[in-house]
Amino acid sequence: MCLFCKIAKKEIASNIILEDEEFIAFHDINPKAPVHILAIPKQHVDSFDEADSLLMGKISKFIQNVASEVKIQKSGYRVITNIGENGGQEVKHLHFHVLGGAKLKWDHFSDADPQGHF
Ligand code: 5GP
Ligand code: ZN
Repeated sequence: MCLFCKIAKKEIASNIILEDEEFIAFHDINPKAPVHILAIPKQHVDSFDEADSLLMGKISKFIQNVASEVKIQKSGYRVITNIGENGGQEVKHLHFHVLGGAKLKWDHFSDADPQGHF
């Protein structure tokens, strides 16, 4: 069982923000912003690339509720999901980073030349 499946089943402790039947949100162990929460489906899905529209619709609402719960909805926030090797995905269980609590930077996602690929 993967790390986030264990967190979803509470076999590994986490600091839970919000939970329903299908989803759970908890604080990231290594926060990159004043608020850094991970929102995941309890059922294992490898990544965003495997997510269907029903799941995406439901988790979108859940993430909005998470933002409301931690009071970053009005000030603004960022939702990120990393996919695969180049996306920098370390945990192979779909998760959305919900970041906020300060003005977030938007200037340094990659050391690679942005003109390089196409
Ligand atoms: P990724 O790099 O896969 O997009 O993000 C994985 C995230 O999971 C990282 O931000 C990392 O800090 C977080 N993380 C890894 N292990 C644990 C853990 O055991 N508990 C919690 N709460 N977060 C974790
Ligand atoms: Zn899993």
